[in-house]
Amino acid sequence: NQGIAQVDPEIAAVLDGELARQRDTLEMIASENFVPRAVLEAQGSVLTNKYAEGYPGKRYYGGCEQVDIAETLAIQRVKALFGAEHANVQPHSGATANAAVLHALINKGDKILGLELAHGGHLTHGMKINFSGRLYEVAAYGVDPETHLVDMDKVRETALAERPDVIIGGWSAYPRHLDFAAFRSIADEVGAKLWVDMAHFAGLVAAGLHPNPVEHADVVSSTVHKTIGGPRSGFILSREEYAKKIDSAVFPGQQGGPLMHVVAAKAVAFKIAASEEFAERQHRVLRGAKIIADRLTAADVTEAGVSVLTGGTDVHLVLVDLRHSDLDGQQAEDLLHAVGITVNRNAVPFDPRPPRVTSGLRIGTPALASRGFGDEEFTEVAEIIAAALKGGAATDVESLKSRVDKLTGDFPLYPGLQQY
Ligand code: PLP
Repeated sequence: NQGIAQVDPEIAAVLDGELARQRDTLEMIASENFVPRAVLEAQGSVLTNKYAEGYPGKRYYGGCEQVDIAETLAIQRVKALFGAEHANVQPHSGATANAAVLHALINKGDKILGLELAHGGHLTHGMKINFSGRLYEVAAYGVDPETHLVDMDKVRETALAERPDVIIGGWSAYPRHLDFAAFRSIADEVGAKLWVDMAHFAGLVAAGLHPNPVEHADVVSSTVHKTIGGPRSGFILSREEYAKKIDSAVFPGQQGGPLMHVVAAKAVAFKIAASEEFAERQHRVLRGAKIIADRLTAADVTEAGVSVLTGGTDVHLVLVDLRHSDLDGQQAEDLLHAVGITVNRNAVPFDPRPPRVTSGLRIGTPALASRGFGDEEFTEVAEIIAAALKGGAATDVESLKSRVDKLTGDFPLYPGLQQY
């Protein structure tokens, strides 16, 4: 009955080291967040011991009375949060949720139409070596070369030419709202089903700060760990007519036993996401992203060849365009890392540099908003990022690092938590 420090000091050191890393740096990876203590507790609980193949009230194992309560709560809460007719909360991740969506909606060899991976789409929307590219025929729409926006007239043209069975709205790197109503009418015109993957912006939708795709799509999938700030996992919402197909595509179609500790943690996250405090946090997420976009479009920054794709943002992330900068994506990511800010490099549409290097950065605000940052702190973060991207190799890393240290010190992460 020993704890991890006794049983496995090497892994205990990793947990401690990671807690320190998260505390001492500014986390700005757009897909990451810090879960509340209540979520950590549910996820690190004895529910991990339980097998529960099936669904509440219809399990293939005995002893499911407690986990049935947890899963039922998660389902009720997420349906209420997004106004959905049906919810499946068992997907282990966003990718498995997406595999189940396509499994439910279409057959092998049918055609999907999604946003080009190189323009901000996701692997599961049709990348060649992903299941989606191997099992289904793939067509793609891109962003406009000038505006970097998805042009719905072009999407319609592509849909009419390609006649897909499923149209996918959703992205991993795109800083604006998609027009879900236009996607719906195109899908109806060509006889396709509409699937929206809201993995990135689901928390904004939950807070009422982003259009809700559930009003337009046949099926909506999501992760729980990005803007929602819950456990690493996924879920699927659908119209009632697809309920049975979605459930059987998740289990037994894609998965075996659900991770009940994670399902319980999702229930906690959905409860929090319905609160006033959560909505206030999402406001700070959006304001923070706007503050950073505004700073990185000011003249002193653009003179250094740095700009922001689409000129701003409507969501929780900013896409920095380094095509005209001396820094490439890799160098900019490394420089910010040295300063104590974690971001990821990201290809920009029509990127002249190779995918491992790229000409862009994706900078997100959800994790820092969870840490408590508001306008004042995001303004300071924006100044630090602007100074580094302008300065390049000549940046005074130490002085910027000490400004980062001040912010991390003023906003302690998981105060009182001794270990992991
Ligand atoms: N869908 C979108 C739009 C994403 O951005 C991601 C993750 O980056 C996923 C799905 C996959 O989620 P996961 O990493 O949990 O499989």
